[in-house]
Amino acid sequence: MSTLMAASNREGKKLNDVIFQAGAAVRQAIAQHGSDAVVNGTLGSFALDDGSVACLPVVEKLFHALPMNEFVCYAPPVGLPGYKDAVIHAIFADQQPDAFIDAVASAGGTGAVHMAIANYSEPGDAVLTSDWRWDAYGALCSEIGRNLQTFSLFDGQRHFNVPHFQAMVNAVCRMQDSLLIILNTPAHNPTGFSLSSDEWDAVIDVTLAQARKGKKMTILVDIAYIDYAGEKNDVRSFMKKFTGLPDNVLILFAFSMSKGYTLYGQRAGALAALSCSKGVIEEFHHVVTYSARAAWSNVNRGAMTILTMIQNDKALQQELEREQRTVFETIRKRSGIFIKEASECQLPALPYQSGFFISIPAHDSAAVCNHLHEDLIFAGPLAMGVRFAVCSVSADKMTGVAAKIKKAFDVV
Ligand code: PLP
Repeated sequence: MSTLMAASNREGKKLNDVIFQAGAAVRQAIAQHGSDAVVNGTLGSFALDDGSVACLPVVEKLFHALPMNEFVCYAPPVGLPGYKDAVIHAIFADQQPDAFIDAVASAGGTGAVHMAIANYSEPGDAVLTSDWRWDAYGALCSEIGRNLQTFSLFDGQRHFNVPHFQAMVNAVCRMQDSLLIILNTPAHNPTGFSLSSDEWDAVIDVTLAQARKGKKMTILVDIAYIDYAGEKNDVRSFMKKFTGLPDNVLILFAFSMSKGYTLYGQRAGALAALSCSKGVIEEFHHVVTYSARAAWSNVNRGAMTILTMIQNDKALQQELEREQRTVFETIRKRSGIFIKEASECQLPALPYQSGFFISIPAHDSAAVCNHLHEDLIFAGPLAMGVRFAVCSVSADKMTGVAAKIKKAFDVV
């Protein structure tokens, strides 16, 4: 019998990342058939029409002009001076509610979600999110001994499922004294869904009902895709609702530079917190900075500098917003083709508003995706369905894709 060395609580930990596996299949197909022949709907990055990952020109220009010390020097665990204010400005724009706010740098949005789970849920407790979700939430919870539970994102009419959200919040709160809820909105991965103003009101009502019973309630809003969700202040208008909340309701934001600034590999983001209690925000600062020091010490200095430069300079900010708008419009054109054709061929895609992905529920998503390979179309086989990346497929290639996906569904 061979000896294994990992600690006993690591047993069974093996990453099964279906999206990275699908990416490997795409690379193989491109090597065999050439990139023109392949439709890569697996990629979680905005791509140009030729399929290459895009970088916003303003970001590229600033990055190339950085002095060498921006690449080699350490930064403080909390983030560079000025980064906190830049993050807060990038998160809220003109929709900052009247409350105490702070932010601590993180290794991307992933790091922000990690720090939220580590500091605002108890070991062994449940963390709640929707069934359609970014797959990494599960590993982020189980890595540090939390248990991810889900509510149904959609009801039978494909509206936000308030009753099931409420039922799950209430059920979990009967078992534990605090609850962390993760909501990825606007432009949810993998469906492109965004909570409406009324749906946000319902979420806050359900949360407040538990807070009145003395539970400590935290909502983490994962805004990874907010910069491609629509008009800057419209898509942030829900943030004004977080005014006058009781001290035992904390709102967190997972901010990421990956999508909005096309700096996926540079690993920069932040966890921001908002509360009516000064003490809660002071505590946030201490515990989260401690987590940052213990997890990664400090994060990418150059990326933090770029965000600070952009947020402090009106002209650069306008340049960035123009470029983000072009990306948004490009994705809208691509997704528009998919949605129109899906409706024509009766492919039951979930309600998409904006963002990088459209999803279609499937019992055997792997079989559907495998079948699609015959047409050299590649998509992400998620547990609940097929995810297609409208962010990475040109309008030309998009034409006809929905019908081919429908055909694969019909065969499987
Ligand atoms: N949240 C969601 C929903 C995502 O899809 C991603 C990335 O794919 C992230 C957060 C975090 O991204 P990063 O760690 O690259 O900032």
